[in-house]
Amino acid sequence: MKNVTAIDHPLIEHKLSILRDKHTGTKLFRELVSEIGAYLIYEAMRDVELEETTVETPIKTIKMGRLNEDNYAFAPIMRAGMGMLDGVLNVIPNAKIAHVGMYRDKHTYEPVNYFFKAPEDIGDREVIILDPMLATGGSACDAIELFKNKGVKKIRFICLIAAPEGLEKVTTEHPDVPIICAHIDDQLNDHKYIVPGLGDAGDRIFGTK
Ligand code: URA
Repeated sequence: MKNVTAIDHPLIEHKLSILRDKHTGTKLFRELVSEIGAYLIYEAMRDVELEETTVETPIKTIKMGRLNEDNYAFAPIMRAGMGMLDGVLNVIPNAKIAHVGMYRDKHTYEPVNYFFKAPEDIGDREVIILDPMLATGGSACDAIELFKNKGVKKIRFICLIAAPEGLEKVTTEHPDVPIICAHIDDQLNDHKYIVPGLGDAGDRIFGTK
């Protein structure tokens, strides 16, 4: 699928095998979501533009690229996206944070936006949206639209597990938004959960039911 990257790496598969396991407890689950979030951000930023800077090593002065962290904002989709935030901030600590609150209507499974708070200069930043599970693609598309309406020109979407249905929707509605995931699963079930998936990511991160 165009503009979709699934990280193919044995260590990511190893981490996902622990994450998916229903016997994995909240603490380890939370740590793994954060850790995989960090790997995803490395991959998502592969094509990023660096600014040239001069560095004096103990041996020699050289020119090399440096990221202007002020150009970026992370946007976790609450609740579950919050679980990835520590991991990505370990990699780009000076990025600002925009919060997007979404819940799925119990009956229609449609996303409902209940909260949006972004830095004032969000329109000048590149936004990386965080959500562990890309299921129907409804919340992803709504979040992308919220940021486009604020004037954001460049958006990337990172998730741990993506369903083909969600990828189809997001890449069709927003072909300009690259999606980076750790794995593409088989399908959605009748309740719009990803199969095989890992269950409800928010519940497993926060220890709720
Ligand atoms: N959200 C989740 O947390 N899990 C799914 O399988 C789908 C959406």
